[in-house]
Amino acid sequence: MFFCKKSGQLLAACVSRVQITGMTDPATHHSADYRLTSAPLSHRDGVLRADDFDDLYFSTDDGLGEARHVFLDGNDLAGRIAAAPQFTIAETGFGTGLNFLAVMALLESSKLEHSQAGCQIDYISFESRPLPAVVMAQSHQAFPDLARHSDDLIAALPPQWPGLHRRDFLHGRLRLHLIYGDANDAVAKADFAADAWFLDGFTPAKNPQLWNQDLLTAIGRLTRAGGSFATFTVASAVRQRLAEAGFELEKRPGFGRKRDMLVGRMRTGILTPQPAAQNRDIAIIGGGIAGASVAAGLVARGITPHIIDARDRLAGGASGNRLALQSPRLSVDHNVASRMSADCLSFAARCSDAALAVVADRVISLDWPDREAVRQAKFRTQFWPDDLMQFVDAKAASSEAGIDLSLGGVVHHWGRVIDPICLTKHLAKGAETHFGFSVVGMRRDDGKYHLIADDGRQLTCDQLVVAAGADLGVLHRMLAIQGIAIDVTSGQVSHVPETAALAGLRAGISFGGYLTPAQDGFHELGATFDREGNIEILASAHLHNKQLLPHGLGDSLPDPASYGARVSRRASTADRNPVCGKINDDLFILGALGARGLTLAPLLGDMLAAEILGTPVTLTRDIRRGLDPYRFRLRASRL
Ligand code: SAM
Repeated sequence: MFFCKKSGQLLAACVSRVQITGMTDPATHHSADYRLTSAPLSHRDGVLRADDFDDLYFSTDDGLGEARHVFLDGNDLAGRIAAAPQFTIAETGFGTGLNFLAVMALLESSKLEHSQAGCQIDYISFESRPLPAVVMAQSHQAFPDLARHSDDLIAALPPQWPGLHRRDFLHGRLRLHLIYGDANDAVAKADFAADAWFLDGFTPAKNPQLWNQDLLTAIGRLTRAGGSFATFTVASAVRQRLAEAGFELEKRPGFGRKRDMLVGRMRTGILTPQPAAQNRDIAIIGGGIAGASVAAGLVARGITPHIIDARDRLAGGASGNRLALQSPRLSVDHNVASRMSADCLSFAARCSDAALAVVADRVISLDWPDREAVRQAKFRTQFWPDDLMQFVDAKAASSEAGIDLSLGGVVHHWGRVIDPICLTKHLAKGAETHFGFSVVGMRRDDGKYHLIADDGRQLTCDQLVVAAGADLGVLHRMLAIQGIAIDVTSGQVSHVPETAALAGLRAGISFGGYLTPAQDGFHELGATFDREGNIEILASAHLHNKQLLPHGLGDSLPDPASYGARVSRRASTADRNPVCGKINDDLFILGALGARGLTLAPLLGDMLAAEILGTPVTLTRDIRRGLDPYRFRLRASRL
């Protein structure tokens, strides 16, 4: 079928989605504790020891030798990664990261031996009690050969809050998905197909929670047919449970003083196809932060996508403000949307750092009486990781901000004030761009999409990603995607000339609206929220933005007549959560990011790229359901 704006013909999109749950948890959780626990530590024979489990992080004989013998050789890793374009390792217990470093060293050396691009590894590790960076670094000192890799890991360590933390190593050939929280909970909510498991929790007698039947059954469920595991323990109860989980077992000689170790192969397992061939054309409609983020994920996985945009540059729409904030949107019940925003911030801040797009490295959310204060007062009765939100009074808030603030609030140390255009360009590197390409028609035949521009240009692709920001609705009609209602609003940001009173500002401040430090003579003060989607610049909008500010701050600003401005349109859904996922095997969508695209898009784009290419998507199942493009339709059909 074919669509043309003028003729109104439609292209059919095959829809086959079946699952959905809501994003909100009705529980109030007022005195909830969202922190991770820390391990009580000491040393025995120079090796790190968890006192409560009375067990060591690795062998006193030779930890690296043990990691290589038990986990790498136990899974026949060297041979298997030599033959595979992509390989997924999953691990229970990241600990000091020594197994991970051993894999990094193996992968790097395997590249040296082969001239071709080599294997890419997704390394998914579950850890409930992440070690402090300094402790981790100290425990690596025993292995000087790994010094460079250790430095890379330590530099990339994520903040210590629960959830997914995505990081890249070896120029993207090694993708770490570090999942903080109890493995029992996290594995149950995961959906991926591992080629090999490193079962490395403390010894089963001392840490039975990591070896129970439910967890091992879930591990079996997440193992590809023919996939493997290796572990140091041969405890009979563990053997029985792993056999019950579907593995064929084999004892092998253990390491050092240990006589035996255990390996296994999944007899049946999930018949998930191996990631498909990389020689395909993928087009992304939209050159804003969403499209660029998907592009970055595809480029890292070996594809050169085509970004097409009606405008003449990247970030020409809502992603193109001079400055913007990256900050989390947390809720008292730390619901699915709240957890998603924490996962996304961990990755987005890291991307901004790598892009050199950072103007200020913290965001302070003020206890502004009419807005944030009620929610933040509840947060103050709860326990949150300092990395995610640190509660401060007015004095401490002022010292974090660099200017006098009359209100306390919450400091987000992983919040950022960024140059969004710089971040978008960084993420789009490696993609081919087609500007001034306004899509007016589409044709689908021979299993390909043919996109037609208003100037007659054509582009053909095997798969299509719609990441068109506020133009999402138009493209939905073109592609006959139904059941995703997109609201478009517009927002005016004021460009406020630098003033002496704000000269010291070195943080982003949010208070319902937001204010940035000055860059090139102007602060960014935002923003209006116009449901009509008007795009003309209004003097009344400057006044609105100024009035959003806490009084002391607003009073020190110059007359709005001196402000510059930018207006852009944003798309959102009824539940204010994005859409990210598959419409059919060849059509994908990332959008409705509202005013939070710069925080949410980098990770969601990376995950969408993983979904398109069949590599692991490690957002929890409930987060993925909350992003499902068809959640509204499926909710309605349940009523
Ligand atoms: N693989 C690690 C390395 O290379 O250093 C060593 C792992 S250490 C022996 C065991 C790890 O399992 C510890 O870091 C511990 O915090 C973690 N762990 C224990 N129980 C856990 C649970 N229920 N969920 C997630 N991780 C757990």
